[in-house]
Amino acid sequence: MFWQELFYFCTQKNTDMFKPLDLSNKPGEIPVDPSDVERVKCLIIGSGPAGYTAAIYAARANLNPVLYEGLQPGGQLTTTTEVENFPGYPEGITGPVMMEDFKKQAERFGTDIRWGMATKTDLSGEIKKVWIDDKKRIEAESLIIATGATAKYLGLEDEKKYAGGGVSACATCDGFFYRGKDVAVVGGGDTACEEAMYLAGLCKKVYMIVRRDVFRASRVMAERVMKTPNIEVLWNHQTKGLFGENGVVQGATLVKHKGKENEEEVKIKIDGFFLAIGHQPNSEIFKDYIETDAVGYIKTIPGTSKTKVPGVFACGDVQDSVYRQAVTAAGTGCMAAIDAERYLSEKHG
Ligand code: FAD
Ligand code: NAP
Repeated sequence: MFWQELFYFCTQKNTDMFKPLDLSNKPGEIPVDPSDVERVKCLIIGSGPAGYTAAIYAARANLNPVLYEGLQPGGQLTTTTEVENFPGYPEGITGPVMMEDFKKQAERFGTDIRWGMATKTDLSGEIKKVWIDDKKRIEAESLIIATGATAKYLGLEDEKKYAGGGVSACATCDGFFYRGKDVAVVGGGDTACEEAMYLAGLCKKVYMIVRRDVFRASRVMAERVMKTPNIEVLWNHQTKGLFGENGVVQGATLVKHKGKENEEEVKIKIDGFFLAIGHQPNSEIFKDYIETDAVGYIKTIPGTSKTKVPGVFACGDVQDSVYRQAVTAAGTGCMAAIDAERYLSEKHG
């Protein structure tokens, strides 16, 4: 289930718990000691379902993959308890245990799994250069990007206080645990509308907390929401905080018409508080070379994991603005390793 994202709180700009990492792809080469330069056939960045699945396939194809885990070994699923929708686990499994299984399977076939963060890239040449922790430079014949995406939060203290007690950024993942209950979804975009409709099929009542008096969502999605009887849209509302007991959410305090003469405080009783205000793909260090959409999702050639840069492949949430599920991440991880293997075979004849 949903006990939350320490990683998020470590990396979001709105927390002072840790200084944000500089992942701006600093200009120029970072000088490294020659003994810290290493040539590899296949480099995988990221250790979520996409990265580990790519590693399993790449290792079995004798690509001797080297995988860097990043700040969140195991990826987003290590921040959740029950995962009930990944095929092959009929009784469900906890996210951390599942990701440990992925890791063991990748290690079993010889993946070299390392602690470290990719901090800079140069993808201009045939050999792709990736700096690790600004110290080591990996020169890779093929590169698989599996760095995931991070859900955005409002930045409220209460999101941390009730982490694991009713705050979630994934209705598909956690909605099931709120069957028959009242929940709220924050946001007015397509994602919020989709999440609200999904939850409306499970929950007694769904509030949508929308900060303006219009949806950002497409008309068709907005119309579907408006026709759903157990969704109530709270226009011009913003969230001030959450309240509850023993770390479990019981309600939210909202402000209607914030900053206006008719500003008023409103309380709603809810068991679940779902954020749907967008995701940030972790693609910053690749952007100088790889095409992304306006949000930052890496663009791949449809039906493949290939980016426009030969030898660079992307899989999982970092290239998926639509599904963002463990099974789809794993599926595209498999595609990336197969694409990398074919690319290297063609190159070497
Ligand atoms: P991620 O899991 O996000 O992993 C990204 C990896 O990249 C991490 O290991 C990170 O450390 C690494 N990384 C990032 N930047 C760098 C860098 N610069 N250098 C090195 N490494 C880097 N999906 C389901 O199917 N079922 C569920 O029940 C479910 N529950 C969820 C519950 C929660 C609370 C959340 C947040 C998500 C849930 N999801 C669920 C969604 C699922 O977790 C994601 O779709 C999936 O993890 C995406 O996998 P990924 O491999 O693309 O990326
Ligand atoms: P989005 O379109 O950027 O919408 C984000 C929503 O969250 C907006 O309503 C925004 O309000 C609100 N928001 C942002 N920050 C907020 C804050 N701090 N407090 C309160 N509200 C806040 O993001 P998205 O809905 O995730 O969609 C991303 C992209 O994916 C879009 O292009 C969308 O069309 C697409 N998408 C498509 C589908 C589909 O077609 N089925 C489904 C999902 C997503 P404002 O409007 O006031 O800025």
